[in-house]
This record gives sequence, structure tokens and C-alpha cells, in this order.
Amino acid sequence: MNSTEKFRNYINGQWKNSISGKEYEVFNPADKNQLLGSIPFCSKKDADLAIDAASSSLHEWSNITAPERGEILFEVLRIMDSRKLDLAETITLEEGKVLSDSEAEVKRAMNIIQFSAGEGRRLLGNTSQSENENNVSYTMRKPLGVVGIITPWNFPLAIPAWKIAPALICGNTVIFKPAFSTPLSAIKLVEIFEEAGLPPGVINLVTGSGSEIGQSLVEDNRVQGISFTGSTEIGTKIYSDGASKLKKIQCEMGGKNAVIVLKDADIEKAAKDVVIGAFGSTGQRCTATSRVIIEQEIYEEFIAKMLIFTKDLKIGNGIDADIDIGPLSSLDQLEKVTEYIGLGVEQGGKILIGGNRLEGEIFDDGFYVEPTIFVDVDKENIVAKEEIFGPVLISFKVSDLSEALDITNDVDFGLSSSIYTKDIKQAYKYINNVDTGMVHVNSPTLGGEVHLPFGGLKSSGVGHREQGEEGFNFFSELISVYIDHS
Ligand code: NAP
Ligand code: MG
Repeated sequence: MNSTEKFRNYINGQWKNSISGKEYEVFNPADKNQLLGSIPFCSKKDADLAIDAASSSLHEWSNITAPERGEILFEVLRIMDSRKLDLAETITLEEGKVLSDSEAEVKRAMNIIQFSAGEGRRLLGNTSQSENENNVSYTMRKPLGVVGIITPWNFPLAIPAWKIAPALICGNTVIFKPAFSTPLSAIKLVEIFEEAGLPPGVINLVTGSGSEIGQSLVEDNRVQGISFTGSTEIGTKIYSDGASKLKKIQCEMGGKNAVIVLKDADIEKAAKDVVIGAFGSTGQRCTATSRVIIEQEIYEEFIAKMLIFTKDLKIGNGIDADIDIGPLSSLDQLEKVTEYIGLGVEQGGKILIGGNRLEGEIFDDGFYVEPTIFVDVDKENIVAKEEIFGPVLISFKVSDLSEALDITNDVDFGLSSSIYTKDIKQAYKYINNVDTGMVHVNSPTLGGEVHLPFGGLKSSGVGHREQGEEGFNFFSELISVYIDHS
């Protein structure tokens, strides 16, 4: 059903149209004819208003006690819990992932809000011994100030939540720029913050194009920090532009995550996990499995198992029951993924299964592509090196763990990785030598728990990690205090 609802920005506690009055429309990637609503297309002028509001409310918000700020986040959690299904359906409608994945995303967002709310009663500093008699010294946290939050479309609720919640508990005020194609989850999240009693100006939402609004946040001297998740290309630009303004910047970016399967692994479990890691959420997770590196002794058997599980996947509209894989999230994504598949073949890769856009019936209305497995791929093939961000898995045959590690580490990215083995010695050799920020043993490359840091090495991340204690370290400054009471 089409929705002609007109959505608004949220600035200084008010829902507003863009100053220019310009709007754009968002559609369902599972059915490109289904209009989901009209969204303000904002410009630098709207971003300026949001920065004004965040700057004016900073003093008051940062002087509310942290436990009181935590109470507001606990109220956010209660409201989210009562709207779980609506939030999950919104994610599926605008992003395309299947409803069970959207429900898991809502749960993840709630976990980080709970974790951050509890931190209101800690936000610890240290006391330390002074070198001078009758002196006391300690550290305490202060907020960074006004922070810009720039997020991608693939986790339209969880990624904003895992940035906004720690930012707020530390006493910062926020300007939130969600991805162009997934503004509805963002709007629903901000509505919940408003209902939970967040004072006007503490969170401000500005929708529209990243190159205009995002750039304004990076350039404005009143914004002290930027937390960005998205592509390595845009993250690199934000990091360098922000650094020239001496801003604190955190960028979580792309991945090319590999799973190694050794000959002693539980093959059934490993094959199931690799297929889910590669094709779940249509491969559009930064932690998705995009390479599988298999010891030669079990190569044929493992490939055969993966084929069985892949053929079993049901593709369709993620809002329907029993669907495993939804569409790609946009026409751009469809074009990008099919172009990569074509280049992979041109450069000598062989497709074992998949490789095509899905056509006919419901598929013509959405952006569907088959789950695709490549074999016999040269290490220098573009599909072996670059992030595709779709349901495409590249497999390699190796003679031992050392060769597998060489392939794993021979990419620009370093986000997540995994090994399947029962041999503790091999597992430790792997843990100690793999160049990724998150390392799994006998579990998929996916996800993470909110109380542990999340992020990658090399081109996958720069600046503080997100989540866990590191999230609070990014969104606060540590002040050293010296008191002479002699
Ligand atoms: P993207 O194109 O880099 O966009 C991310 C955000 O940046 C969007 O809000 C975008 O706005 C905005 N933006 C675009 N140009 C900008 C500029 N010049 N200045 C400031 N902001 C700008 O990424 P995406 O396509 O949305 O997301 C996919 C990427 O995210 C993949 O590479 C994936 O690996 C990565 N990702 C990483 C993680 C992680 O934690 N490491 C998690 C999830 C996703 P518009 O939408 O308006 O263009
Ligand atoms: Mg993009």
C-alpha cells in the first residue's frame, strides 16, 4: 500500500519542513512501486539551524546528572519495547532485509540503549596517588560537546542507536544525519527520544543528501566530534577534512571478511554458518562473510554442503513469512553487485551457483539478485579484493593454515574474521596472526555484543572503536584534576 505521509525534520524540539520546502520520496526495495513517504530534502541552512539548537542546549543537558540522563534512556527502552514490531516492519519496508533480521536489529538497538542507560550510574574516572604531600588528583569525564552522527542504510536503527545512546549519556548534544534511502527508522527513533522526555535541541534530525548536510557537520567549528559509519571512500574524506579542523573523528567502514575452514572442522556447522554469514541480510552487513578459505582435504565436501544450504534459501519480499533473503536495498546496490559479478567472471572467476538478477513475478518489482558463489578465483581478481556488499561469496582452496592466513590478510580491509577448527593450537595461531578488529572461532563473522568494542583495522576503521567502554571514551574527554589541600 502506498503511503503519501509527509515526514519532517526534528530541530530544537519541533518537527519542521526543510527551509527550501524541497522533498524526496522513499520506496520499498522489495517493490519499487510502493511509496513509503515524502522526506524533507535539507540543505546546509537546515544543518545550521540544527547546529544552533544543539549548541544552545549543550550547557543545560550536560549539567543534568548522568543518572538522570540514564533515566531518559531507560524510558526510551520501555517505549521501544512496546513498538518492537512496528520498528522491525519499518526497517524491512525501507531497507529490504527479512523481518526476523529486522527484529534482531531492533533487539540490538535496545541492548545498546540499555547498556548506555546503565552507564549513567558509572561514567568512571580514576583517582591516583599524587607526588606532592596533601594533594589529591583524579580524572573525570566531560562531554565532547556538539557531535555529528552520520549513518549508513544497512542498519538504519541499530547503528544510529549505538552512536546516539553513548553520545547522550556522556552529556553531548546530537545532530543526526541518517542515510538518504532509510530515513523512516531514524524518524521513528527520534520520535521515541522525544516522547521519552529528551529536552528540545538535545537531539536534532536532518534528512537529505550526505554530501551537503554531512559535509556541513564536518566543516562547522561548533561541532566537536563526528561519528561516521559507511564506506571507506566517504570515511576517508570525513577523517581528513575533520582532522584539519582538529575534530575528534570515529569512522567505521568497509570489510572483506574471511572464514577459514580447517580439515578437522565440524563441516556441517561451518557450511551452514558460512552460507548464513554470506547471504543473510542479502550480504549487506559490514561483517558479512565474503570469502571462505578451505583446506584442500575437505574442499569438495565443503563446497557440496554449501551448495545444498544455498539452494535451500528462499528469496522474496522480506515482510512475508518464511523468506530467508530479501532484495538488495536499492537500484544502485543492484547495479553495483551485478557489475562486480560480471567483472569477477571477466577476470577468470567461475560461478558455481547464482550470478544473475532474479526476474519474473514479484522479482521484476524489486532489486533481487541470486546468492552467488565463485570458485577458482585468482587472488588478484577484483571480487577477491574489493568489498561487494551483496550476496556474493568467493571460495579458495589452500594447503594449510599459513596459506589461509596469507589470503585472509592480503586485502586492504580488517574488520572481522573467523576460523572453524577443533585444534586449540591452530585456533591460537590464527587469533594471534589475523589482522582484523573482531576475531571469531567456530562462529560466523557477523555482529558483536554491545558491551565489547566493535570495529576494524586497516581500511575498515579509524579512531576509537564503537560500543563497549570505548564508545564512552570516544564521546567524552578525560580531564585531569589536581587539588592541593595542604
Ligand atoms: P556511504 O555511502 O559512505 O554513506 C554513509 C553515510 O555518509 C550516509 O549517511 C551518507 O549520506 C553520508 N555521506 C555521503 N557523502 C558524504 C560526505 N561527503 N560527507 C559526509 N557524509 C556523507 O555508505 P553506505 O553506502 O550508506 O553504506 C554502506 C557502507 O557502510 C559499506 O561500505 C559498509 O561496509 C559500511 N558499513 C560499515 C560498518 C562498520 O561498522 N564497519 C557497519 C555498517 C556499514 P547519503 O545516504 O545521503 O549519501
Ligand atoms: Mg552510498
